[in-house]
Parts: sequence; structure tokens; C-alpha cells
Amino acid sequence: MSEQELILRGTPISKGIGIGCPVFFSCFEEVTSPYFSVHKEVDEEIDRYRKALDLSRKDLENLQKNSLHSTEVHAILGTHLEIMKDPMITTGIEKKIRDTQQNTEWVFHHLIEEYKHRFNSLKDNFFKERIRDIVDISQRILGHLRRPGRLKMSEVPHNSVVCAQELVPSETIEANTSFVSAFITATGGLTSHAAIIARAKGIPYVANVDFKLLKNVSIHSIIVDGGSGIVILNPKKTTLKKYQEIKKTDQQNLNRLKNNTYLKGETIDGYEVRIYANLENPKEIESILKNGASGIGLFRSEYLCFAKKSFPTEEEQFEVYKKMVKLLRGKPLVVRIYDLGGEKKIQDIPEISEANPALGLRAIRLLKCYPHILETQLRAILRASKFGEIHVLIPLVTDISEFHYVRQKIEEMQLELKKEGQKFAKQIPLGCMIEVPSAALMTDCIAKEVDFLSIGTNDLIQYILAADRSNPHTSDLYQTMHPSVLRLIRSVVSHANAARKPLILCGEVATDPNLIPILLGFGISEFSVTPRFIPLVKDTIRKWRLLEACRLAEGALASSSAQELKEYLKQEINI
Ligand code: PEP
Ligand code: MG
Repeated sequence: MSEQELILRGTPISKGIGIGCPVFFSCFEEVTSPYFSVHKEVDEEIDRYRKALDLSRKDLENLQKNSLHSTEVHAILGTHLEIMKDPMITTGIEKKIRDTQQNTEWVFHHLIEEYKHRFNSLKDNFFKERIRDIVDISQRILGHLRRPGRLKMSEVPHNSVVCAQELVPSETIEANTSFVSAFITATGGLTSHAAIIARAKGIPYVANVDFKLLKNVSIHSIIVDGGSGIVILNPKKTTLKKYQEIKKTDQQNLNRLKNNTYLKGETIDGYEVRIYANLENPKEIESILKNGASGIGLFRSEYLCFAKKSFPTEEEQFEVYKKMVKLLRGKPLVVRIYDLGGEKKIQDIPEISEANPALGLRAIRLLKCYPHILETQLRAILRASKFGEIHVLIPLVTDISEFHYVRQKIEEMQLELKKEGQKFAKQIPLGCMIEVPSAALMTDCIAKEVDFLSIGTNDLIQYILAADRSNPHTSDLYQTMHPSVLRLIRSVVSHANAARKPLILCGEVATDPNLIPILLGFGISEFSVTPRFIPLVKDTIRKWRLLEACRLAEGALASSSAQELKEYLKQEINI
């Protein structure tokens, strides 16, 4: 087992430096051997190991009792029982746990690997055969060592670098930033929800790392550079020092930006820009306001379902929305009705097999299939509307009929609530997300009817370029800087502005300092971003004059490819 410094490369997903110990999470357990990192009190670990040994011994004794008819099987099991008495398996492991302070699975796994290596290099077949017995026994013991249920994201120890086959949004949302230093995964896309959440939480993340390379390495620490996509296993002292310095500088820069929270979001020449927050977890609302947000521009309400692992009732939702608007004290709250389906699954909706989930039953399409779910949500939103300013946003609109459908449902629910004597605001603005090319191309017609629009570039890009936002194999094609993307955004903005309808851009592109001036130049004056990025977006806006931004945007539209656009920006703003 190598313990040397080893550098792996993956896709950079969430910027920042994370340093810590590996914690192998969820499906990764099945892919390689089950081992986690150091954390627990040593005595507790040893106790756990003794229990696993006891249970394994009992297994073998039971099997032996039941195999009296076969003397061979009986003899083999007898040998296994003998091996289990070997000091290597008993006191040897206990000593190692104590010496290394590492957890049992880790120590055990490595000892077995070492034995395998040693026995396999022997010429004598007898010894080679013995290793089979040891492997067999070790699997039994490891089976008993597995904790009941899977390790939960909320339970990982301090300084964990969570290594997983892939991350799903419902797990990622549970990550506690005081415990999780970084994520590395075998698969994952740049704008998958797990990625968005990692960025929202400021957890460095590198995806598409070749996990096979980890198999023969004994890892004691990992550095994850989420900006460059580099993962360093067992860093040397000098490497560690270098990355600790970078981490410190990053933190200083972040602190500097945080000082601008109370400054206005405006260009040098006084063009005012409102910056809202995208929110998944209602508990974070207070910290968002501290970041200087003008309100919540996108509340991804489906996360209420993930938190509860089923659909929240009307009452539960009402309480959440009410609390949110009250805390916002007059600032708007845009509730996007459930955007479920695709990568965001929940148990309450029967699993349907779809060849292309991103093109399938998602968001408003799914809600149309389950009207009672939509009705419950709308009733809760309407009831909360008397406590503050709430807007309703429809995700994944492809056709104006979907807007008509929701508007009709709102009217029905208003009638119902009125009959029940419930109070609600007279007006509840209703808007559409423009995140599908058909809607983008029809913005002039849609804008005439809606109260506001919201561009969801995360999805819009995947549908323009036909490149799944979560699929690592299409990550090269998923280009935020493709001129086709810019052209369509520009067209949507001009139609919204012509119809004098408010428009918020709420995709991840709004956090890219190179694209912000272009978006400003297109005439966008409202952005909604992951709260952590509000200071950065504001800082960028405050460095530009509107006229210069317009000139930059015009030039960008003339590019004929993503490469040309990048070169143009390099020349113009030194990216
Ligand atoms: C988007 O698609 O850009 C968006 C903001 O919505 P989500 O990322 O939740 O799909
Ligand atoms: Mg979307």
C-alpha cells in the first residue's frame, strides 16, 4: 500500500481548498472495501471490533453445527475458527487501532491487504490457499463491522473529505460545513443540484475523480482544490503548507468582500442592480439577509420535501412560508413551486422509468399529473401571502398553457379559501421560469401575460446545447460561455424589457465575474444567486460602468464559438 503523495485530477465544481481525512460515503462502500477515517474514541472502536469478532465466531460455530454431514465443510470452518484466534486478528488489530488512532474498518482492511500481498508473494501453494481463508473471514468480520444503516451526511466527523460515487441533493443539503471539508466524487456535473448546494455551502468539490486509483493507497489525508480540480492524496509537508497558505488568502479575500454587504449594488455610473438570494434551506434566511440580499429571488421549495422525506402538509408549508416572509420584513419571497422529477426524486411519487428524465416528467409537468400536490402548495402560499410579499414561480414552462393551468388553480384555491373564511393577499404575482428554449423563443408572448419572468440558465444551457447538466460525459459540451446561450439570454431580456415585465436571472452564470458585465450589458438589473456569492456579485458590479458593459456585451455576441468568446473576454477583461 502506497502512502506517497499522489495527485489526481477531476472536474472543478466548487472553488476553495479543503483539507482533511477521507470518509467513504454511501455507494462508495460497495465499490471498494468499507473503511472510514479516524475519529472515534479508541476504546469504543476496540469494543466495536470485539463485538464484530464475537458475532463472526458465533456465525462460524452455527455453520459448523449445521454442517455435520460434510466433514470437509466442518474442517474448513474449524480452520476458520482457529485463524480467528490468531493474535494477528485479535490483539494485533486492537494494538494497531490504539497505535494509529484510526478506525477499525480502516486498520482491518489494510492489515488484510498486507497479508494478501505477503502470502501471494510466497511460492508455496499451501500459504497461497490460506489467504483465501483469511479473505473469507475478513469479509465476515467487516460485514459485522458495518454500522446499521448507512453513514449519514449529517454524521460525518470533523475534517471529513467526503468521497462518494456521486452526491444527491437530499444528502448534500445535510452536510454540515463545520464537519465536511470537501467533496470528491466519481461522477457529477457542474450545475447538478448537489453541485449548486456544495457551492452554496462553500464546500470545495471535485467530481469525476478516478476512484480506482485510490484502491491501493493508504490515505491519511487529502487536499481538494475545487478551483483547479486537483486532489492530492497524502500531501508532503511542503505541499500541505502551500495549500494552507492559499486557503488563508482565500479566507482573507472573502472577509474583504463581506465588508461590502451594506454597499449598494450599483455600477460606477449609478445603474442600480438588485441582488437576491437563491435559497434551499429556510433556516438560512437570516444569514442571507446579513449578506445584503434584496430578498429571496428563488426559493427551491422542493427541498422542503427532501428535509421531510415526503410532501409537507399544507399546515407545515404555511408555517414555513409565513415565517420566511415575516423575517424578510417587506422584502419579496419568490416561491418556486416544486421542481421535482429528473435528478430530484422523492419516495411519495411512484418511480417511473424514463429513458430521458431531463426531458420527462419534471417540475410543472409532474405537478399537472398530481394536482392535489400543487393545490396543497398553492393554498399554503396563498394563506402565507397575507403576512408579506410572496410571488409564485412556475418551473420548466414549455408552453403558455402551463401558466394558464397554474393561474386557474390559484383562482380555484382563492375561491376555496374565501369560502372557508381564510385571508390572503389580493394580488399574488405569478411568473414563469424561462429555462427551456421553446419558452425563451416565445418570451414576447409569455411576457404579455405574466407578472414577472425568471431566467434559469442552469437548465436553459443544458437544453440549448443538448448536454445533460449532471452528466460528466457531456461536461465539455455544457458551456456557459457558448454564444448561443448569450444570444438567447439577450433575446429573452429584450422581450421582457419591451413588455416592461420584471426579470430576474437566477442561474449559476450570475456568479461568474466574467459574465456578469455581459449580463448587465444585456439590460439585466436583477440577479438571484447563491447567498455566499452576493458579496462577489456586488463587488463585480461596482467595478463596471454600464456603457462599458454594453460595449463588452455587443462584442461578446459577435463571437462565433465558445473558444472565441473566451479569447475575446481574455483580451477585454484579462480573465
Ligand atoms: C436554473 O435552472 O437555472 C435554476 C435556477 O433552477 P434549478 O437550478 O433549480 O433547476
Ligand atoms: Mg431550473
